Amino acid sequence: MLKQKNKTWIEISRNALIQNVRIFRRILGKKTYLMAVVKSNAYGHGAKEVVPIFLKAGADWFGVDSIDEALQIKELAKNAPILILGFTPNNRLEEVVKNGFRLTVYNDQTVESLGKIVKRLNTPVYLHIKCETGTSRQGVTLDKLVPFAKKITENKNLILEGLSTHFANIEDTTDSSYAKRQLVQFKRMYGALQNVGIKVSIRHTACTAAAMIYKETHFNMARVGIGLYGLWSSKETKKTVQKFGKKINLLPSLTWKSCIAQIKEIPLGTPVSYGLTEETKRNSKIAVLPIGYWDGLDRGLSSIGEVLINGKRAKIMGRICMNICMVDVTHIKGIHVEDEVVIIGKSGSSVISAEEIAEKLGTINYEIVTRINPTIPRIII
Ligand SMILES: *Cc1c(COP(=O)(O)O)cnc(C)c1O
Repeated sequence: MLKQKNKTWIEISRNALIQNVRIFRRILGKKTYLMAVVKSNAYGHGAKEVVPIFLKAGADWFGVDSIDEALQIKELAKNAPILILGFTPNNRLEEVVKNGFRLTVYNDQTVESLGKIVKRLNTPVYLHIKCETGTSRQGVTLDKLVPFAKKITENKNLILEGLSTHFANIEDTTDSSYAKRQLVQFKRMYGALQNVGIKVSIRHTACTAAAMIYKETHFNMARVGIGLYGLWSSKETKKTVQKFGKKINLLPSLTWKSCIAQIKEIPLGTPVSYGLTEETKRNSKIAVLPIGYWDGLDRGLSSIGEVLINGKRAKIMGRICMNICMVDVTHIKGIHVEDEVVIIGKSGSSVISAEEIAEKLGTINYEIVTRINPTIPRIII
């Protein structure tokens, strides 16, 4: 019988999370705050479960995408500063102020609206200007930076606390030249503010890869996401870290499990699943699994994905349905209905990593874990 009361669930290793926080604390040293980036349901690992562990293990700040995520994290980490990294619509700015969230800003309109709100509420709000240094995403360019900053500093309740930027390709290559150019531009932008006497207490540029590879990007805060969950930003990042002779042993913290709903024997030449896209090539035993693309098992894994049962690989047969898929278990002996199935993680001596799945789908591990349906229970072990 199943240990869990659900047909699919996620196990999160507390020890792995704590280890990973310690790794980044050590990399960053005492002078650099560690911001745990917990957007997208803590990279699919479960914000509710993960945030208290990060907090206890030594995360100083939390980074989120949206006001709604910020409201959720506040309930879990009452006193920790929370920075909203993404876009906030004008009609939610009052909530930012009232809840004391830090906001990333880059539009004049946002600053103007905030100016009115803080005046009306007579409450300060702490702002972080995002610098455009070459990612062509959010951010203010150098030519607009000083007037933009002045718009903030001329209002005593708008407090310019942070200056940030984000690297475009630091995890995509072992060649750091573009990142270095971005860093030079960021320093130039900080210098422009200093020249007009504007002080900014927190500067931050580093994501996981930058934090691991280039100390120069640390300043006084690093925004670390994927690494805290025990995943590498990319193969290239791993290669660069190894090249520098550093030993970093990230521990993947997530195991995604399900179970067998039915086992059946079907003869050679029988089509399996919608569209009759795949037929058995021998007399086969298949297991029906109660998970599908709604759960986050990408439909692109139809006929190419694998799962682990009793430490053995079982290939997905035919199309993945919304809530169900079938796997070939002809070669696996002694299996029963309700036996555990591993979608991501270890089973015996076998492993299916988020990276393996990402490679099959032509995407990155980030997308694999963040797309796991947030309604699936996360269980801390
Ligand atoms: C998501 C995000 C991060 C974290 O990146 P990782 O590669 O997961 O460490 C850092 N900064 C910003 C602005 C982000 O959006």
